[in-house]
Parts: sequence; C-alpha cells; structure tokens
Amino acid sequence: MKPQELSARLREIEDQGLYRRRRVLDRLSGVEVAHEGRRLLNFCSNDYLGLADHPSVVAAFRGAAPGVGSGASHLVSGHSSAHHALEEELAEFTGRERAVLFSTGYMANLGVISALAGRGDWIFEDRLNHASLLDGAALAGARLKRYRHGDVESLGGSLAECSAEGRLVVTDGVFSMDGDLAPLPELVRASRNANAWLMVDDAHGLGVIGAGGRGVLEHYALGQEDVPILVGTLGKAFGTFGAFVAGSRDLIEFLIQRARTYIYTTALPPAVAEATRASLRIIRQEPWRRDQLRGLIARFRTGASQLGLRLMDSDTPIQPIVIGSNEAATAASGALMEAGLLVSAIRPPTVPAGTARLRVTFSAAHTEGQLDRLLEVLDTLKLNAS
Ligand SMILES: *Cc1c(COP(=O)(O)O)cnc(C)c1O
Repeated sequence: MKPQELSARLREIEDQGLYRRRRVLDRLSGVEVAHEGRRLLNFCSNDYLGLADHPSVVAAFRGAAPGVGSGASHLVSGHSSAHHALEEELAEFTGRERAVLFSTGYMANLGVISALAGRGDWIFEDRLNHASLLDGAALAGARLKRYRHGDVESLGGSLAECSAEGRLVVTDGVFSMDGDLAPLPELVRASRNANAWLMVDDAHGLGVIGAGGRGVLEHYALGQEDVPILVGTLGKAFGTFGAFVAGSRDLIEFLIQRARTYIYTTALPPAVAEATRASLRIIRQEPWRRDQLRGLIARFRTGASQLGLRLMDSDTPIQPIVIGSNEAATAASGALMEAGLLVSAIRPPTVPAGTARLRVTFSAAHTEGQLDRLLEVLDTLKLNAS
C-alpha cells in the first residue's frame, strides 16, 4: 500500500459496514461499566468467573513484591519466584509435566507454532481457529491446510494427502465466536493415526469447562499423551493477564530455547503472576462459580428460544445470536446500548461473511435478574424475523 492510499482504504472499510470503533469504558464492578456518564451492564466480557475484581485476586496483586515491571525477559533477569511458582501450579492443575508462561495468548500461539513447525512442514487448522493460530502458521512458513469447522473427515483427507513428515494439527478447544467445542477425541485419533502433533488452544475452556475447571481436556478425559500441546490464557476466566503452554518436560524446555515470542520479550509483571496464583486457587476451590454459570446459560437458552432467537449449538458462556448483515448486527448492538446493555457486534473478518452476530457472554457474577433484563430488551428488538 502506498502512503497516499490510507484515507481511501479507511473509507472502504466504512462503506462495507466493517468500521470498528473503540468505546471508552471504565469498570465499575464485575458486570458493570461506565460509558459516557452512564452505567451499562456488560454482556461481552470474557471474565467468565467474575475473578478480575475478586478481593483475594486484587489483594495478591497489591501485595506482590515491590516494583511493577519484571525488568527483563525470562532468560535474562525477569523470571521471578512468582512466575516460577505459577508455572508449577499450572502444570499441576492441568496434569502435565511442566508449564511455561507467555506474555499473551497471541504470543504463545505465534511462539509455539513457529518453534515446532517450519518450511517443509504442514499445519492443519480448523477454519474457525483464532486469528493468532492462523498467524502462527504464517509466521512458521509451513504449508497451511484449513479443514472444515469441526470436520474430522475433512482433516483426515488433508492428512492423507500430506507428504511431509512434520505435521501439526491445531484447534481451539472452545471456539471463541461460536461457543462450541472441538471434537477432540476424534481429533486425537486422526492425529495419532497420521503421526501428527496435536495442539489445543483452550483459551475459553480453562476455568469454565469440566467439573474441576480444567477445560475441554477434562470434559473429554484426555491427557498429555492424547494432546501433547495445551495452550491456556489467563486474561479470560482467570481474570488476569498472560498465557501459558503446558506439556512434556522436553516440549517446554524446547519452547524456552526456541520460541521467539518467549525469548525476545519482557516477562509479565510478577504481581500479575501472584494475582493469577490467587485466581487459580479460587478456580480450584469454588466450583459453585461454574454451577452458577451453567444455570445462567440454561436459563438464557430457554428464554432466548422462547423468543425465537437464532442461537448456536453452544453449552458454554459464549452464546452468539446470529444476525447476518454487518449493519443489522451493529444496529442491534447500538439499540442494546441505548437500553443500558453492552453486547458487542462481531463482524467479518472475525467471523465468516454473512454471519455477523451479537456475541453474548455470561459471567458467574451476573444475576438472574440481569439476564432476564437482557432477554426483555432482546425481545423488543425483533431479531427473530429471519
Ligand atoms: C483470546 C484468545 C487468544 C489470545 O489471548 P490473549 O492473551 O488475549 O492474547 C488466543 N486464542 C484464543 C482461542 C482466544 O480466544
């Protein structure tokens, strides 16, 4: 692109109904934000368990070692006892030999994929995988094959065509814009038969899915031998910030040696690691948060189907309402905001063209009354005319 083209390109984005605007929001509580002097009920955060402002998480953050920044990367002088303890606790929680922290999930995915695959290798990804997983494949320079969403036969076909020895199958655990689960037992079988690695990014499952909150792998009773590479993020159900990869001793040691997004970046602030240790304790000790969430999800699905809304096949706190056109989705989000409810409209390229949607998410901190208010306002929008 030439520098003179910028403004024309911006107009083009606007003409397609794809212009994105940031809203300036200040958090008031787990589920309320302030926007231009008004209080809005938030139904689009990923703080699924309401831990981002939990008193013990906040206390751990405030009580952490003096100083804010870690001062350096993990391999120089940034790796503190707080980071190290969190890594050990995450390995134990996920039932894996070892874990390593990354500064964000985006960076973890770029780092893992580009460390494990390169030119000459093939990477197989679900069509609806998170952008960071697709970008990881591009960075790796490997051949990328995208298979139909959740379709293990489609994957099998691509694996059968593959002539390379290095093969990496990559999937979201819970799909971030649809809320459905990957068919992991079948993916494990297909990967094993083809002698391919399997990597699962469970950003939206950890903390939420499974009786113990251990994510989609707990749900399907799968371990490290089945899924050798597990990525988790800390900015969602954990309510803090950062990410980790968990797996075998050798895998983690190799990532420490070779993942460029691990090596060439500053370690997270140690206070974030301390806060995350506190949220991990709550995830383990307070299963009622997951029960509360399940109750809200069931109530919403019943209420929304009575209203004739188009829901997706999701049992997770991600409950999208498909609208179709970009403009209609944006208008619905605007109308909800007028009524004091924050629900973001998700448009292409985040989701396929023609499937713009309201992405409703729930938190254990929501009350049934708040959820009923959402249903009441959705009813007035007449979104069921399809
Ligand atoms: C949010 C998300 C990420 C990115 O994690 P960050 O820590 O926010 O960078 C990666 N993968 C999936 C599936 C996600 O939903």
